Amino acid sequence: MVDLKSQYLDIKEDIDYSIQQVLDHTSFINGPQVTTFKKNLEDYLQVKHVIPCGNGTDALQISLMALGLRPGDEVITVDFTFAATVEVIKLLGLTPVLIDVEIDSFNMSISALERAITPNTKAIVPVHLFGQCANMEAILNLAKKHRIHVIEDTAQALGAEYIFEDGTTKKAGTMGTIGTTSFFPSKNLGCYGDGGAMFTNDDELAVKLKGISNHGMSQKYYYDVVGINSRLDSIQANILNTKLPYLNIYNNKRQQAATFYNRAFTDIDSLITPKTSTFSNHVFHQYTLRITNGKRDELHEYLKSQNIPNAIYYPVPLHTQKAYAQEYRDEGNYINTNTLVQQVISLPMHTALELEQLEFITKTILTYLK
Ligand SMILES: *Cc1c(COP(=O)(O)O)cnc(C)c1O
Repeated sequence: MVDLKSQYLDIKEDIDYSIQQVLDHTSFINGPQVTTFKKNLEDYLQVKHVIPCGNGTDALQISLMALGLRPGDEVITVDFTFAATVEVIKLLGLTPVLIDVEIDSFNMSISALERAITPNTKAIVPVHLFGQCANMEAILNLAKKHRIHVIEDTAQALGAEYIFEDGTTKKAGTMGTIGTTSFFPSKNLGCYGDGGAMFTNDDELAVKLKGISNHGMSQKYYYDVVGINSRLDSIQANILNTKLPYLNIYNNKRQQAATFYNRAFTDIDSLITPKTSTFSNHVFHQYTLRITNGKRDELHEYLKSQNIPNAIYYPVPLHTQKAYAQEYRDEGNYINTNTLVQQVISLPMHTALELEQLEFITKTILTYLK
């Protein structure tokens, strides 16, 4: 699905040097490279504060902790996402309220959100799934009206840009109260281990986020709140310093591959290509098709037999998972998610896809479907 080796070999000298710099300096934790990365990412995102941490799951957990939510508070998120988004809500004793997504964008349904908000709702966690922003303008308006916090899960959409109705643009993750991301190796900006970060324009929140990620420490050996230990190490930070200047180029390469796929798949009845919203560009963390003739599983097996990597993100709705089974499980609330889990299939998507590979993948699929 991804080709991290080619990407590394393209910039091997720079990466090797960035690692060697940390080895020479030996500040493996909280070294100057971490501060540099924080500043570099603040510049790139045009956001006041970036707080690096250990991974994208921690980033979500620390964000929820910083908002001072209490057990029983409701946090609305989507049924169609990676488990990390909902597990942290449960871990903190909060009540996840899983809602449906839109069938064509795979992102949070605004009508479902409107229905789900109650006086107990304290936060909304939209996920910018597969590389495209959720409908943030509508989400932010509802959040403002009901005085609810918004945490944007940007693990799959770093570098994506949201276009507001007045024409202004903002980077994914910088619109809500807090944005979170992951630098897991296969994400759009990946390091060579685990890594994550939080973003905010709120000075006070930035202090809290930093404190919580460092054992709840406000000043050396003074603990005002219970925190956790979650750090981006210096080697990962310096790898990210080397890779950040390539993020737009990488996202561009993903978009070019997506354009090739889209062109090849026009006018096929049994297949729907990913829709790009009017209010967001798409950085294609995943290129996800919908197979509408009921033969998704067959196609999945066939592609495997042809040695074409492909994956089902996600095969089971969260609301039916044992760990997250909702008390209120009216299937009528999950019509789109229940449909998508049977239709979606993601094709190879990365920064080193060659024309011959794209041709082979699309030809194989077209021959099979026709
Ligand atoms: C990858 C991912 C995460 C978690 O990131 P980690 O760094 O693996 O903890 C959270 N949310 C979404 C939507 C993701 O894709």
